[in-house]
Amino acid sequence: MQKEDFKILKELNSLNQAISKLQITIQDELSRIDKIQHQRDKRQIELDLTHDKLKANIRSIQESEAQISHFSKLHSSALQKSNTLVTEHEISSLQTQIDNAKVQIDHFENKGLELLDVISNDEEIIKNAKTFLAGSLESINEIESEINQSNHKILDDIKTKKSRISLLTSSLPTAIITKFEYLTSKGSPLGPLTQITDSNNCEACGYLLHKSLVSAIEIKNAFHTCSGCERIIIPQNVKFL
Ligand SMILES: [Zn+2]
Repeated sequence: MQKEDFKILKELNSLNQAISKLQITIQDELSRIDKIQHQRDKRQIELDLTHDKLKANIRSIQESEAQISHFSKLHSSALQKSNTLVTEHEISSLQTQIDNAKVQIDHFENKGLELLDVISNDEEIIKNAKTFLAGSLESINEIESEINQSNHKILDDIKTKKSRISLLTSSLPTAIITKFEYLTSKGSPLGPLTQITDSNNCEACGYLLHKSLVSAIEIKNAFHTCSGCERIIIPQNVKFL
């Protein structure tokens, strides 16, 4: 094995890692949009419910107004009648009607005032929800256009790295590339490559390597994988990046 081949393996590994990172960047942006959309959905439900409540309360206030006008008429016609009455019984029964009408008018006036408070509160909720929905839609559009722009760069970057990968791949022996790709596909966070530490252990899994194997790798650039973790062992003197 040539020292150059080990360099290629290191470069391939770092290209693969860079591609994964770029793909994660796109994923992060998309999940930001999902989060905002989730909040928007909740806000839209609140808006719809408040709208329905507002409509019902406006109907109630109209009913209260109709009741007030009905009892006001009763009240004033009873007042007019009171001038023409003679017997004490007639006067007292009319007075009861007048008092009752007054009680009803007060009741519906109070109810109307309470409804006005609720309505103005609901109108505020609707206004805020509409502002939020408009603002968050704008944010989503901005993120989407950012993604389109940066995706373009990211996708170009990934393409460049992939063509570099196929160039490098073609310059290595098939058996080595097959092993490298198999180890990469396992998706271990530590990757497919390892080195030997000064105490002759595998850097990734700690497996202790025999001295003769260590010198074959470090001095003769022999191709070996770790018996503990299968990773390809790169000699310490091979530097890339
Ligand atoms: Zn190992």
